[in-house]
Amino acid sequence: MSSATVLVINAGSSTIKYQLLDPATAEAIAGGIVERIGEDMGLVEHRYNGVEHSENIHIGDHGDGLREVLRLFEAHGPHLADANIVAVGHRVVQGGSVFPHPTLIDDHVLEQIRDLIPLAPLHNPGHVKGIEVARELFADVPHVAIFDTSFFQTLPEAAYTYALPRELAAQHSIRRYGFHGTSHQYVSEQAAMLLGRDYKDIKQIVAHLGSGASISAVKNGEAVETSMGLTPLEGLVMGTRTGDMDPAIVLHLQREAGMSADEVNTVLNKQSGLKGLCGENDFRELLRMIDEGNHEATVAFDVYVHRLVKYVGSYMAVLGGLPDVITFTAGVGENNALIRERVAQALAGFGVRIDPEVNNVRSKEARVVSAPDSTVTIAVIPTNEELAIARQTMDLIGQ
Ligand code: ADP
Repeated sequence: MSSATVLVINAGSSTIKYQLLDPATAEAIAGGIVERIGEDMGLVEHRYNGVEHSENIHIGDHGDGLREVLRLFEAHGPHLADANIVAVGHRVVQGGSVFPHPTLIDDHVLEQIRDLIPLAPLHNPGHVKGIEVARELFADVPHVAIFDTSFFQTLPEAAYTYALPRELAAQHSIRRYGFHGTSHQYVSEQAAMLLGRDYKDIKQIVAHLGSGASISAVKNGEAVETSMGLTPLEGLVMGTRTGDMDPAIVLHLQREAGMSADEVNTVLNKQSGLKGLCGENDFRELLRMIDEGNHEATVAFDVYVHRLVKYVGSYMAVLGGLPDVITFTAGVGENNALIRERVAQALAGFGVRIDPEVNNVRSKEARVVSAPDSTVTIAVIPTNEELAIARQTMDLIGQ
């Protein structure tokens, strides 16, 4: 292995996902996940050369976790000494208003990421630990932070400002930050390539529909709107998150149901969305329930699509006209033909037409699924956040 590689690390509160990539060829050489860090029994999975190795083992903390990753590479390949790792790219969920671009990590940057913990209490603590340990274990190469929020730092003030008292908002850094930015940026760039158009010259809507879901409007290569806000809770209906709702519901639950702030937080983030509506958050299962005539599952699906259509319509207005392309990505967007069909149907009055046959073909490739006479191209583009992180890392270190 001679070409330069990047190790991408996504350290969560109790997991570490990692991938070794060749950014030039887009090849994912090896990767895996360490799960249930700090629990009695953890789980590690490592993939290399088409072989997957998994093992149950206790993992005390993030340091143990990353040392375990090193051991997995040595035991199951490839040997890291031969892997030509030129940099480590770290995914960081919250970069606040501090990080509009990928940033080389030094002690000061790490401190700034730590300072952002109040804005991302579930994510940034894991990132900080992951970065600390990785900098020790991979001391000879540069470490780069890639932020989920950076792509949305171009949002106009009117789009990122909540109508709260100015001083209060400023004091607590309350504004819309947006998340999934690495995916929205990668997919919108790929969409321009798929259309053979200049990225700086087209209007786009990107729907990232995974277990978390967000939608963005991208104009002339810059994000101008996105559905997630101060936290990833705002916007679309998600697997277990409510998305938009009247904020007074929070107060109502506290006053009338006697819930604490933490309990309301759990309800809104973990027990709502599709799961709250029909008990199921996986779309494959949801479709099966709909086929069986389950009313709650049908309503859950309709609520999901209704919110999505509302956003697409409002983003057309924000973009000042029909977009050149609407792209679906992530687990649901890439695999669920029915959602794409329902959104296209809702937009039929604007001349949007899906090609039902092409839309129903399963594929891992970037593809157009609209009919040739559609006023807007509908595309499906697999997202690849690890590759995007590896490439941005490489760009930053100038290789
Ligand atoms: P994450 O946000 O966790 O990265 P993904 O982008 O992998 O999530 O999306 C996960 C979701 O994608 C699952 O919850 C599931 O509902 C949906 N999904 C995955 N595969 C399929 C499929 N073949 N058909 C329909 N939905 C799918």
